[in-house]
Parts: sequence; C-alpha cells; structure tokens
Amino acid sequence: MNVQRVYRFGTDEHGADVTEGSSSMNYILGGKGANLAEMARIGLPVPPGFTITCQTCVEYSGAGNVWPEGVLDEIAAAQADLERRMGKRLGDADDPLLVSVRSGAPFSMPGMMDTVLNLGLNDESVQGLIAQTGNDRFAWDSYRRFIQMFSDVVLGVDADLFENAIASKKVVAGVRSDSDLTAADLRELVEEFKGIFADSVDAEAHPELVVDGAVRFPSDPSLQLRLAIQAVFGSWMNERACLYRKQNGIPDDLGTAVNVQVMVFGNKGDTSATGVAFTRNPADGTHEFYGDFLVNAQGEDVVAGIRNTEPIADLKTKPGLEEAGASLERVFGVLESHYRDMCDIEFTIEQGRLWMLQTRVGKRTATAALKIAIDMESEGLISREEAVRRIDPKQLDQLLHPQFDASAEYDVLARGLNASPGAAVGEVVFSSDDAVARSAEGHKVVLVRWETNPDDLKGMVAAEGILTSHGGKTSHAAVIARGMGTPCVCGVESFRIDAAAKEVRIEGSDVVLHEGDVISIDGATGIVVAGAVPLVTAELTGALETILSWADEIRLDESCGRARHVRVNADNPADAELALEFGAEAIGLCRTEHMFLGERKSIIQSFILSDDVEERERAVQELLRVQTEDFVEMQRTMSGRSMVIRLIDPPLHEFLDDPRELEVEIARREAAGEDVSALRARLARIDVMAESNPMLGLRGVRLSIVFPELPLMQVRAIATAAARLKLEGFDPRPEVMVPLVAITAECVQTREVVERVIAEVAAEHGVALDIPVGTMVELPRACIVADEIARHADFFCFGTNDLTQTAFGFSRDDAESKFIPIYLHKKVLEANPFETIDDAVLELVKMAVDKGRAENPGMHFGVCGEHGGDPASIVKFFNVADVDYVSCSPYRVPVARLAAAQAKLAAK
Ligand code: ADP
Ligand code: MG
Ligand code: MG
Repeated sequence: MNVQRVYRFGTDEHGADVTEGSSSMNYILGGKGANLAEMARIGLPVPPGFTITCQTCVEYSGAGNVWPEGVLDEIAAAQADLERRMGKRLGDADDPLLVSVRSGAPFSMPGMMDTVLNLGLNDESVQGLIAQTGNDRFAWDSYRRFIQMFSDVVLGVDADLFENAIASKKVVAGVRSDSDLTAADLRELVEEFKGIFADSVDAEAHPELVVDGAVRFPSDPSLQLRLAIQAVFGSWMNERACLYRKQNGIPDDLGTAVNVQVMVFGNKGDTSATGVAFTRNPADGTHEFYGDFLVNAQGEDVVAGIRNTEPIADLKTKPGLEEAGASLERVFGVLESHYRDMCDIEFTIEQGRLWMLQTRVGKRTATAALKIAIDMESEGLISREEAVRRIDPKQLDQLLHPQFDASAEYDVLARGLNASPGAAVGEVVFSSDDAVARSAEGHKVVLVRWETNPDDLKGMVAAEGILTSHGGKTSHAAVIARGMGTPCVCGVESFRIDAAAKEVRIEGSDVVLHEGDVISIDGATGIVVAGAVPLVTAELTGALETILSWADEIRLDESCGRARHVRVNADNPADAELALEFGAEAIGLCRTEHMFLGERKSIIQSFILSDDVEERERAVQELLRVQTEDFVEMQRTMSGRSMVIRLIDPPLHEFLDDPRELEVEIARREAAGEDVSALRARLARIDVMAESNPMLGLRGVRLSIVFPELPLMQVRAIATAAARLKLEGFDPRPEVMVPLVAITAECVQTREVVERVIAEVAAEHGVALDIPVGTMVELPRACIVADEIARHADFFCFGTNDLTQTAFGFSRDDAESKFIPIYLHKKVLEANPFETIDDAVLELVKMAVDKGRAENPGMHFGVCGEHGGDPASIVKFFNVADVDYVSCSPYRVPVARLAAAQAKLAAK
C-alpha cells in the first residue's frame, strides 16, 4: 500500500489553498505541521510549504538512518511543486526561493530539536537575493546565518568557531555590534565561514560533501535540503530530546515531522518585525494581547533575548507596522474562535505584511486556566461542560497550597521526593517534642526525621512542613502529611541526620544544619533550600468555586447515569470542617486509631499489656469515655451527613513501646541499681505481641474477633454519641465499617456483636438507631466472595492501598523505596500502582461491586484508599468499577470533585 509521506500546505501560484492536512493530524504531521495546515485551511496568511510525516522519521531512524524507498523522490516532487507554486526556484541566480526546515513532533518539545533557516542560499542565489531586495547587506547577512546554522545543526561544527570569526571581524572593522558590520564585512565572513566548514567537517564521514578531493560547503540546494531533513530526523534521537521525552512521559516511538516552508523575513528594515504572542495572558488569564516583538529581526532573536523586545500592544503604533498590527489582532480573534482556546503564536512581518509561522493551544498556570475557562464560557466560546473538562485536576493542587514565589532566587540544597504538595519555611527541629515546644513558643518549624511513625503525629501537626531522609511517597510521613495538607519532602538521601546531636550534615556539601536553622521545602517539587524562600499563598478563589460548582452540577446530575459523589477521609472535627468547606458531601473514612494516640496511648497499653482483668476493664471504660466524646464532636460536625467509622485496624504493636528502646531503658535502670522487674514483664508482653509480618498479622477484623472488648467498646461509643445527639435534636448518621474482612464468617460474627450493642444503646436511651454496618473490602478473597459478604453488609468501601499490596504481594513501604523505581525504569511497570490504580486491582474492585450489587441492590459502594484522590484513578473507579463515591483527604476534595465531573462527562 502507498502511504502518503508528504503533505502540502498553503496556496498555489493562483493564490488557491492546496492544504492537505489539518489540526486533527497531530500524530502524522506533528503539532507544528498540523497547525500550520489548519491555519492555512482557515485562510490565515501562512508561508506555503510541505510536511514530511512523523512515520517517515520513525522508518528512517528504525532502518539505521537509511531513507525508505521512494521518499527522496516524493520530497523532490514536493520541492518542485513548491517551486512551481511560488514561481521561484531554490538556488536561482535571479529570484531565489529560500526555505526553512523545521522540526515538529506530536508533542511540543520546546527548544529540543533543531531548525535551519534561509536554506537555498549559495554564491549564485545570494546575487539573486540582492537583485530582488536591493539590499546587499541583508542578503549577505542571511547567507552567513545560513552557513552558521547549517554547520551547527546538520554537521555539528563547533558554533564558537563562527562566533569567534564574527568577533574578530568586528575588531578589524572597528565596530561594536553585529548590526554595524557592512555588506562587505559580511561577504568576507561568508568566505571565512565556508573555510571553517571545510576545515571542520570530516571528508571520510561525509563523502557527499567532497568536491575535487576536499570538503566544500554544499551549494546544491537539493543536497542542502536532504541533509537538513536528515539532521532534523536525527535530532529526534539526540541526547537532550531523549531526556526531555523521558522526563515528560512522551513515547520515543512517535518520531518528528519535518516542515519545509518558504522563508519570510522580519529583518528587511523598519517595516519588518518578528514576535511571539499569546491571545490571552497565560500567567493570570486576563483577556489581553500578551507577547513581544522586535523590529528588523529574525525569529530566534526574540527568544534569544539579545535585544530588548517591545510589548505586543505597541505594535499597532509603530510607523509602517500599523496595518500588520491590526491584522495580527484580527488573527488573534480568528484563532480563538476557531480553536475555542487560548493560543500561542509566532509571527513575522515582512515589509508590512503579516505571516503566521506557528500556533498551538498555549500552556498556562492554574490561575489562568480557571479564568480563561470561565471567561470563554461567558463569551459563549465554550459550554460549561467544556470549561469543566479543560481544567487539569492535577493543576488544582497548585492553587490550594502555598508555593515558592516564582520570582524568588535560591540555591537548591538537596532534593527528595515530592510527597505532599505545598511549600513551607521554618526552623529545623529533630523531634516531635521539639516541634511542639518550639511552635508553642510561636516559631514556625520544619520537622526533620529519618522517617516518621504514629508517635510523631503531634509534632507533624505542629510543623509547617515535614522532611524525611528515608521512605517513599507512601511512607508514613507522606501519607499523613498529604492527609493533613502539610507540605512534605521524603527520601532526602543526602541528609545525614544525627537526631541526638540535633544536627544534619548534607552529603556532597559543607553545610551542617542545626536545630533552629531555617530551611524551606517545596513538597510539589521535592526541593530543599537553606534559608527562607518567600512564599505565595493561595485560597479557594471565586474562579475555583465557580468551576467546582459547575463540576458539581454535572457530577450530581442523575438524569444521565449514577451521580458521582465525593466524600472525605477525616478523623477529627477540624479536618471535617475544612472538608465541608472544600465541598465534601460526607465522611467516607473516619479512622479511629488516631484516637488512641497521644495521652491515650497509655490507656490502650494497659489494656493490651495487663494480665489483670480489672485493670483491663478500667482501661476499656476509660477508652469508652474518651471515644464517646470524640464521636459526639465528629457526629455533631457532620450532622445530616453520613460518616463511615472504621473499627480499629492497625496491628496492636503500633500502640506499644519500641522494644529496642525499652531494652535500653531497662539496661540503664539496671545499671543504676533500680528494680526493673515490672519493665521486664512489660517487655515480655510486648515480645509476645510481636509479629514477623505485622502487615499480614493480627489486625483489622481479626482484632475484633480475638479481643471482642475493643469493637464492643467502639460501637458502644459510636452508638451512644449518636443517641445523645439525637436527643439533642441533631441528625447523626454514623455507619460502622469492619476492616480487612476476608472470610464471610468474620463479617457475620462481628455484625452480630455490633447490632447487639446498637440495640442495647438504643434501648438504654429510648431512641431508634439505624446504623448501617458495612465492610472495608481490601483483600482479594473478599472480592471473590463479595456476593456472600454482601448478604451481611450494607455497604462496601474499597481500601485500595491494602488491596494493591495484597493483590501484588508487595509490601508498600519496601516496594516503593526498593524496587518500584527500578520496575518503572525497566518498564516492568508503566506506573506506580500505589499512585494510580492498577487495571487488575481495578478489576477486583469491579468484580466485588458487580457481585455485591447483584446480591444486594440497596448497597452503596465507595473507595477510600489514597487512589480516591488521584484524578486518573477516580475516572476509572466511577466509569469502570461503577462505584458511588470516592473518599480522599480534605485537600484533595476539590480535585476529586473536578475529576468526578470529568468522569461523568467522559462516560456520556
Ligand atoms: P521551535 O520549534 O524551536 O520554535 P521553529 O521551527 O519554530 O523552532 O523555528 C525557530 C524560529 O525560526 C522561529 O522563531 C520561527 O519564527 C523562525 N522561522 C521558522 N520558519 C520560518 C520561516 N519560514 N520564515 C521565517 N521565520 C521562520
Ligand atoms: Mg517555534
Ligand atoms: Mg487497610
């Protein structure tokens, strides 16, 4: 079959449009080629040309830089066709055609690949250019620029050789600036440049450049063209382009297109100019023309920052450029109404005439994205749905957390993982106690730890930011920090922390930080800086609220499919209130283990460690008292809204002292002659509780089966709180969730106990209590027997962190720090399954939802793992697994509302 490898764009000799491509052909023509075609098709002034497809590049590189059969003939035909359309020939001695050779991949890769301008010049055609323009300085300058670019881009000749030659020419001519060099100077430079070329290029490697036994700068325009195209193809695989693709997740097998386009000149005097612009302000979204131009300059000069540019708004007022400036404003309007989006463009004005050289939908900040979407909706350019679809949920994160001021300058001290977004500045502290103490004195602190554990919670709450030298993006520090919305940088390996000495050495530098020294961390980038970086704070702005209210209309609309609800994971009233402000509808997961920490740790320790029945009973009563208070507060905050409360879940030893620390303590006291028998007994109990694999040990529902006092106490607290609030006129709606169920009987037996307690409490208070009981589905076996379990559950909530761990058999902390990075690098895994839900794990969720709904149509289904805050996962949970809600940490709620609306739109 004959595939088309070359596509024409622009007009023919009669001014008729002969464009073959369009903006939908991004993968064939690359972004630049597709949009040049699109602009030509809608009648904008585009210098004519043709595009060689990305697939040709792939074939060419794939064959080891060998041209696929027939392509060179097609290119020669396209060249002849272009010459006919323009009525000019490349290399012509009277009226030469000049072209640019431009790269352009399906994804924008700014500055990564190469472009050659003014191609087609040689000793004859430069005379033709002089004759046509009457401007010999311009002609010689164009020629020397061409030799320079061609040598650099196509043959890799050292660019300094040319710059040095220009510098010495200026000395000889006694001038300061390039623009003071005369036509004669430039003409001499051309000869020198050709000499540099001949001396630098290896004859054996380039036999096609050898004439009469020596390398010569190629004068044949067809040869120039072929070599330039080869160089652009080759630049797809150059080192910086490969690195850029890797960093930006762009596949290597797309290839780049090559655009061969008639040159227009912005450097033909004061009625010529060149510039770059956005149709709106990409920083804040203001509807204004935004950009810069330079009079009498060629494209690259604007970006290179060699001369001071002028603001685009002044273009219309420049003598000789008024008309072109007005045309440009009209083009802005045409582009916006055609693309229905903000565009960025490159243009050149040649002797008063405007030419469009590039356009694409422009990149923008989160603030600008919101403003532009809302403005375009009210301008009637796009619908509300489109406005909602356009906002990148990931970008919202930027808006909800403080950030480093973009204009701040700083040196990076170290880098770690970007574990929880937002920036923080504070004094270094090395322990939770110090964090609490210093912040109580009014200081801002950053907690710096090897890693954190549940005991550090109070310090983490007190800190502005958290830094750990170990652990990955789902380490304790990362998970908790994200939940609290506290900035966190994890795994800063160069930090050599000596917590006892309260100092940290930074490997690879002389810096030593002591307690009280100020550092800044950016949890969105993982950057750590010594000293204070100025921060800018963000908030739920009017624009964000508008977009989110549109998102809510869409996701909650039941006229077309199930509503997509968003709940929050919150364990305390402050988080719950914040989440309500952020638009959460209910609590999807209230963990109760946090309620056992701090001062209460000793109570639960007496329960676990004591052999004395009475002491255990006292401890349970005490816990009942404090938990009831917690639940009263939470349920009051959430009055009228559901609140799923998970029974105690983690392995018990997390509540116990570290046995190693205890051993040290015993040794110390023993040396001091103290009686340590009680401590020894305690240590023995702790040792008994120790498990070799706690993640798969005595936790979740297993605790409720083994120590029934605990769930009895918790359910009593939940039900008592509800009963009291009801009597006070509130509308408490707690739901009890049993974690880590694998076996149906676990559910049946626990439910019996739970319902008995609820009934008792209801009778004691004389109120009706309707408290649903559901299970947390987080083990593969539970998914397989979901139909059975569904007979005994009012809802399923998927704990996708544990489900991912157990489906893969990965221990999360180890996997993330030890081998997932290698798996990603070697492409064993495409993405980290703890960040974005894996398709097989999703299949388990879907299976359980299908089985559950078939068995028990009244059930509801939610997701409360960390994936519930990941936009890509959210779309899959709703659209593939068909759940009713996702639940995520408070700061992710706005992101989830937007992603849920986008899921609904995608499903339409
Ligand atoms: P990049 O992808 O790096 O932006 P381009 O292909 O856009 O590279 O080219 C670089 C510069 O050369 C741009 O500023 C553009 O305006 C200018 N340029 C490219 N082709 C032409 C042309 N046919 N006429 C005039 N200027 C051109
Ligand atoms: Mg460009
Ligand atoms: Mg779990």
